Amino acid sequence: MSGTYDNRDGKIWLDGALVDWREANVHILTHAMHYASSVFEGERAYGGKIFLSRAHSERLHFSAGQLDFEIPFTVDQIEAAKAEVLAANGLSDAYVRAVAWRGAGEDMGVSSRRNPVRLAIAAWGWGNYYGDAKTKGAKLDIARWKRPSPETAPSHAKAAGLYMICTMSKHEAEAKGCSDAMMFDYRGYVAEATGANIFFVKDGEVHTPKPDCFLNGLTRQTVIGMLNDRQIKVHERHIMPEELEGFEQCWLTGTAAEVTPVGQIGSYNFEVGALTRNISDAYEKLVRA
Ligand code: PMP
Repeated sequence: MSGTYDNRDGKIWLDGALVDWREANVHILTHAMHYASSVFEGERAYGGKIFLSRAHSERLHFSAGQLDFEIPFTVDQIEAAKAEVLAANGLSDAYVRAVAWRGAGEDMGVSSRRNPVRLAIAAWGWGNYYGDAKTKGAKLDIARWKRPSPETAPSHAKAAGLYMICTMSKHEAEAKGCSDAMMFDYRGYVAEATGANIFFVKDGEVHTPKPDCFLNGLTRQTVIGMLNDRQIKVHERHIMPEELEGFEQCWLTGTAAEVTPVGQIGSYNFEVGALTRNISDAYEKLVRA
């Protein structure tokens, strides 16, 4: 499969049925497009099986709830739909994107009470999110934008509106030759990258920001479990910018990113060390287990 994302062969599941890829369209007066009333999931299938599939479907429901809407399909129906999409497109190793949004309807102001909630699921083959950084270590910029306070935005939802500052940060990073940007939060603590959580290693122990104003990623939770199994101490805490200097290793976690080593953040350097390699390799085994 190739071409732009709106012009490919294949099937997309839309509101309960598979449609031709090119026909999976919405009207220009879709509420979500004007007011960011949209939530989504990014998932990966390995060998035909989506890793943590049900947890992703449950999070999609949770995110919709955070935005005060209800998806008109149950978690079981979403699970069945995802399997249908993989089968219809003949995919075994794939990225799966589920998206739910307030559609076009009788309302076109900020209120959307009379508009339908819609759901689509697409899947496609996707390699390493950060390309060869997976082996060499990614170079990150430091974003100007800060992750917002939970009083300002539904920080724990995987909601489209939260990615506005991520796209801007990522574009600035790419213009500087970086793969991504690390973001601080509204208080100035280290938060995460634009689409992945972050971990640091110092003196054999692991430090990761407390997810109190950003997504507590499923990969993050999986990796913490893996570290616990290895009896490696994990400190989930607020991390100050000046601490970056003292960390020895760093990696990112995310469904798309998997476990990607980080070699540089701004002017701080990290080694792609043994623990980073160990966790990255073990994660690859786990998702296929
Ligand atoms: N933070 C952000 C902003 C993300 O987009 C993602 C990717 N979903 C993550 C963290 C990691 O989440 P997960 O491990 O559940 O994919």
